[in-house]
Amino acid sequence: MLDVLRRIVQEVASARNLEQALSIIVKRVKQAMAADVCSVYLADYAQRRHVLMATDGLNPAAVGRVSLAMGEGVVSVVADAAEPLNLDNAPDHPRYRFVAETGEEYYHGFLGVPIIHHRKLLGVLVVRQRERRKFAEDEVAFLVTMSAQLAGALAHAEASGGINPAGQAAGATFDGGVVDGLAGAPGVGIGTAMVIYPPADLDAVPDRKITDVDAEIIAFKTAVGMVQGEIQTWGERLSLHLSAEELALFDAYGLMLSSGSLVDKVVERIRAGNWASGALRDTINEHARVFEDMDESYLRERAGDIRDLGRRVLVCLQSAGRRKAPPYPERTILVGEEITATMLAEVPRERLVAVVSASGSRSSHVAILARAMGVPSVVGADDLPVGRMDGRALIVDGYRGRVYMNPSEAVRSEYTRLAREEAELVAGLQGLRDLPAETPDGVRLPLYVNSGLISDVSTSLANGAEGIGLYRTEFPFMIRDRFPGEEEQRRIYRQVLEAFAPRPVVLRTLDVGGDKPLSYFPISEDNPFLGWRGIRITLDHPEIFLVQLRAMLHASVGLANLRLLLPMVSQLAEVDEAKRLVERAYRELIDKGENVIMPALGVMVEVPSAVYQAEAIARRVDFLSIGSNDLTQYLLAVDRNNSRVAGLYDALHPAVLQAINNVVVAGHAQGKPVGICGEMAGDPVAAVLLLGMGVDNLSMSVASLPRVKWVLRNFTQQRARELLSIALACEGADAVRLHLECALVEMGLGSLVRAGK
Ligand code: PEP
Ligand code: MG
Repeated sequence: MLDVLRRIVQEVASARNLEQALSIIVKRVKQAMAADVCSVYLADYAQRRHVLMATDGLNPAAVGRVSLAMGEGVVSVVADAAEPLNLDNAPDHPRYRFVAETGEEYYHGFLGVPIIHHRKLLGVLVVRQRERRKFAEDEVAFLVTMSAQLAGALAHAEASGGINPAGQAAGATFDGGVVDGLAGAPGVGIGTAMVIYPPADLDAVPDRKITDVDAEIIAFKTAVGMVQGEIQTWGERLSLHLSAEELALFDAYGLMLSSGSLVDKVVERIRAGNWASGALRDTINEHARVFEDMDESYLRERAGDIRDLGRRVLVCLQSAGRRKAPPYPERTILVGEEITATMLAEVPRERLVAVVSASGSRSSHVAILARAMGVPSVVGADDLPVGRMDGRALIVDGYRGRVYMNPSEAVRSEYTRLAREEAELVAGLQGLRDLPAETPDGVRLPLYVNSGLISDVSTSLANGAEGIGLYRTEFPFMIRDRFPGEEEQRRIYRQVLEAFAPRPVVLRTLDVGGDKPLSYFPISEDNPFLGWRGIRITLDHPEIFLVQLRAMLHASVGLANLRLLLPMVSQLAEVDEAKRLVERAYRELIDKGENVIMPALGVMVEVPSAVYQAEAIARRVDFLSIGSNDLTQYLLAVDRNNSRVAGLYDALHPAVLQAINNVVVAGHAQGKPVGICGEMAGDPVAAVLLLGMGVDNLSMSVASLPRVKWVLRNFTQQRARELLSIALACEGADAVRLHLECALVEMGLGSLVRAGK
């Protein structure tokens, strides 16, 4: 059964539109359950009706035309209770409503299960039986499992077209479609989608429109020729070792590629307007599915061969295509299932207007980078049909976490106005650049930036940064294919320290592991966030740690602005051990005659145990820096990169606020400054609360800096304290946010929390 289930879900997931997805569901489920009918009703909330959207067994002419008002019929009983309903004779049910057009008078047995995605009812999946009988328990369990698995794929397909007024699937026009994700980086971006995807992954290939059909066909045939050549070479190479029978396998491979049906089908799809890679994806999937449905296991396995061939042709197509620079649109909106730092870096900055990632959350690295670059972004938009987005007009609302597909003229002009006002706001904030971040009652709160890229440095200075509060040293490690050497590291750190001197620069020691892997230092763990990361790795590898510490200390000679920061500390012993190694690195340099001075040493408080031992930590070091990104993740037990639970991830959760407040009190009790370097420091709403707590500095993405300065220059610490005490008494993050946003709007600072003035 598991196999059937998996195959149906896979097939639905690769459907090109809602109509196709639904027709696969009804056909396959009917078959798998040996039912007489399978139908899907989708909820149309605008019309308040359950619309029959697909059926295998009822009158096909009723599709799209028959619907039940919400509350009417047994379908509504399923929808209202959000539970399965299993009846031996549906017409006996008091809420049964007979619909003549469907031809359902012949059916008695009824099983309906709700289709629910992210707590929202999408529709009802129904199977019917001619005879009077209740469905067996395992059949109910099967349909419930099926529905739970299908919900995601259906939501995906629905976002592509939804239901049009006639009740028909609108296909894949996407006109006016809206997908909600999470606010990744503030701002509004209006432009054209450019889908990026990992290479050699056939399923990740998007559709792309073409103008030169002939060139595309030639490219495809060339790629096929290359793969045929490869296959022939393998055959020849192995001819000494294999029997004629075994060698025939290679001929079969070659034959598959030269078979008219495969090649002709791809060409036909290219002629219909899709590029070769997209046409190849659809054709390979279609062929593989035919084999997967076969009963004979030997033949079923041939599906794998077909997919393998498809991948090989794709690689050839891609290696030919790579020679040309990708044609980034004038106003590129980068879209992908998952967007990495290098994908972002490849787009010419002047063309990049927004970023949309189907995965991730506010504190995942793509969001952090987008904020650092000042590019509006939406993350965790998991209902976005990524593969169908290439070349579409999009609007990205990075405040609300919303993506508009092929927006209407009205939406477009509203957002154009908001984007213009936004640009005016940013230009206006430039006037604050040389003014201090000082509250009206005279409290100075130094604003630093979080960095990790050398290129950030000049933008940071241009935006009035008073120092670097967090330099993530893992970025230079991530973009190499081996650990950088001591001198190489020294040069990188020197550049940053010099550019900012005499302003302080906090260099964090290597924080890899968790969500920050190094390709050349793979770590495979079931629970990477609870595993070997940050200081745990560097203490286990003193040879790596000492090289980095020496490079940092050496880089600071003559500058005196270096501060060191230790990540992921969860035990006091780690602080003691790290201090010992810092002293050793210092000694070694002194012994070599280098004129180094001992830098200030700080610890990141980002693990709950460190919150409870903050005072003991503060006693041992010179400063504390709260990493609210990880602290939120660990306190709330919410993976910061998992879009499924991202709605629960919020640094404004009163428990997180309490923890931060306690750390500030503990640090101050030991006379040590406490700063914040998590993303919350750049959230104007949170900055007010942090001011109220009396934190000593804030470190944030450079793009957030002008907004935070603006808010600080408008709120007295006294008022911030009042707001904090109310926030600490709130029951949830939403209430805290609402309370703070109202306070900002009251002060005339509403444009800090939404688009426009
Ligand atoms: C944090 O955890 O808050 C932090 C600043 O570090 P990173 O986001 O690099 O884990
Ligand atoms: Mg962290």
